[in-house]
Amino acid sequence: MVTPRTHRFRGRRRKPQGSTLDLFEAVEDSIILNIRQTSLSACAAKGLKVGCLCGFRVVRSGCMKKDCPVCGQEVTKRRARRIFDRFEKVRNGRPVLYTVLTVPPKVRSRFVVRSEWRKVVKAVIKVFKSEFGFDFGVECSHPISETNEYVFHPHINLLWLQKAGVDRHKSEIPGSIDLDKLRARWAQILGTAGPVDVNHQFAATEKKIRHRCRYIARVFPGLSSWVGSVRWYGKPPVLPPEIRKCPKCGQVFMVIDFLTEHEFLEERAIAAGVGWRDKIR
Ligand SMILES: [Zn+2]
Ligand SMILES: [Zn+2]
Repeated sequence: MVTPRTHRFRGRRRKPQGSTLDLFEAVEDSIILNIRQTSLSACAAKGLKVGCLCGFRVVRSGCMKKDCPVCGQEVTKRRARRIFDRFEKVRNGRPVLYTVLTVPPKVRSRFVVRSEWRKVVKAVIKVFKSEFGFDFGVECSHPISETNEYVFHPHINLLWLQKAGVDRHKSEIPGSIDLDKLRARWAQILGTAGPVDVNHQFAATEKKIRHRCRYIARVFPGLSSWVGSVRWYGKPPVLPPEIRKCPKCGQVFMVIDFLTEHEFLEERAIAAGVGWRDKIR
């Protein structure tokens, strides 16, 4: 996991109050306010009542925009599902690797400009392909940390598969890579001499992989123009279009009714009471 901001408190870098670090924070705060769109309006979101041979159930519906505070959650879920399915289709027992590259505070402000950020992402993918055996994978940039939504904290999240038999850096563990080398390359790309943070893990169980997919698929209402979309590199498998079928009876769901937010919540509550769960995939 990313452990945002910890580097600030690491002994050597700690500075007394009123120092330049405080200034960094102030600058970051204003950055994030600048790139966030000022007016975020939740759509008058809603639900759908859908039916199959088993009865009916209610599902979320709405504008389904990444910037919608209500629908954003659904967009995340859907993206996560699609990412997971792609990896499942081709990973063939290989672990899914998860690498996070964060940016030291003093060079962050440069990356408010999206095109500057895309340049470094591109450079990173190139390095992964040529030096770390990157086979295919997905990149999602996040503009803020998990712990503080008011601080600009751009980081690259990479979920990827490694080609068989490459760079098993001094280890038999599949997917282990030379982190010192990666740190050096990342510092080069950022053009900074100072220490940089990278984090590398792998996930081999379905639960862990789903968890990672869910994390990287996160949307950031108000910041989506900086974030952009999920990007695939290498040769991702093509998935068939999503058809929403009932896992029980196999029927394609039919829309029975359109619900307002209030009706949706009410139906959900009733459904929960009688043991229905929204398990639509
Ligand atoms: Zn919406
Ligand atoms: Zn059914």
